Amino acid sequence: AAHGSRMVAEGVHVTFGGIAALTDVTLSLRQGEVLGLIGPNGAGKTTMVNVLSGFQQPTRGSMKLDDVAVGVKGPHMTARAGIGRTFQAGRLFRGLSVGENLAVAAMSAGLGNRLARKRAAEILDWMECLDMIDQPCDSLSYGNERRIGIGRALALDPKFALLDEPASGMNEAECQALMHLIAAIPRDFGCGVLLIEHNMDVVMGACERIHVLDGGKSIAEGTPAEIQSNQAVRRAYLGDK
Ligand code: ATP
Repeated sequence: AAHGSRMVAEGVHVTFGGIAALTDVTLSLRQGEVLGLIGPNGAGKTTMVNVLSGFQQPTRGSMKLDDVAVGVKGPHMTARAGIGRTFQAGRLFRGLSVGENLAVAAMSAGLGNRLARKRAAEILDWMECLDMIDQPCDSLSYGNERRIGIGRALALDPKFALLDEPASGMNEAECQALMHLIAAIPRDFGCGVLLIEHNMDVVMGACERIHVLDGGKSIAEGTPAEIQSNQAVRRAYLGDK
């Protein structure tokens, strides 16, 4: 993927039956960076990822990839435009092996069968998961399922990868390894990353910039150091308003 693309969400509102899940959220993401999206439960993080990936149409506001409103065309066209994502529940193709799951994604990005299998193996090798290539997806541990989900998103050769809580279900050593992998994605795959994650060590270690939501509103954006010392962020997490 060529560098220099930009994703911009501007003034995004989403309401569900009169309840505001997102209120006037503006954020942007460059192709070469890892942006963290954090916030307490119910802050609107997954709703934002759904907007950015075309699964959810904003009630008001816009989402654009290089000035084109791709989200309005739905999730399939948004993925084809270069926005890959993972889901909180893996959503891998259950009947297929790990390698086949990645190869199917690479084929949908335009590679032929042989090259797609080669690409799948390269990505699994990069993730230090090559030993799982023939394993059926049904047999994966929860943590490995998350990792393979990331591999599948990368196999789509996206301009942007949106990762929804990739560290959940992982132990501390797995979290550390994951943090390094995520931080290396812009360099090794040339794509930008939006990382939603509850594990603060992973977020602080992998992201250059962090955007914080609380109750559907943006309350802060800055470097990990700025976010860690931000009073509004501390209040949001301590539930002390
Ligand atoms: P978590 O960290 O718990 O996953 P989150 O920050 O991802 O939370 P969202 O899942 O985006 O938050 O939810 C934001 C708000 O919108 C919540 O109040 C939630 O109950 C509500 N919500 C989300 N999806 C829907 C939906 N499809 N219908 C109705 N309400 C919804």
